[in-house]
Amino acid sequence: MKQTVQMDRIQEKMQPGVFTRDGFLGSDRRKLIDILIEDDEAVKRMDLTHQKIAERLIELRDAGMRGLGEFINIEPHYEVGVGSVRGKLPCPFGDPGIFPKTNITVRNTKLGREVIFTDMHIHLIDSHGFYEGKGSPFRLEPAALVEILNIQPAQE
Ligand SMILES: [Zn+2]
Repeated sequence: MKQTVQMDRIQEKMQPGVFTRDGFLGSDRRKLIDILIEDDEAVKRMDLTHQKIAERLIELRDAGMRGLGEFINIEPHYEVGVGSVRGKLPCPFGDPGIFPKTNITVRNTKLGREVIFTDMHIHLIDSHGFYEGKGSPFRLEPAALVEILNIQPAQE
């Protein structure tokens, strides 16, 4: 698929120093459209949707909020901490709304692995199927999310 001019503009906003210091793309030199397509295919191969992944992130964030900044245990083997960072961010895709810089850390104590994400990540995944570019310090690898957060395909 060919990238539109509109997508070129979005991609420009994702460069370091435009909306955020590090930007959203890391060392990824691909066109935004190709990043989106590859992650979309990866998610489909796992019989999942971006919305299903976002739902799980929201569920863990909301459960973690009860810890009021401290890590709390969530069954069966998670520790979740939710912390706030001052400030809000607009979405680089240009739709209305700004997102608080909430940091959510989910540790899977069984696997000894963790995922760190923000409200912006939840929005980017849910609305745009965007997980950031490869090499971005904030990229969320779809397969890692699914494994660490134990996201299951919907039962048919
Ligand atoms: Zn958006």
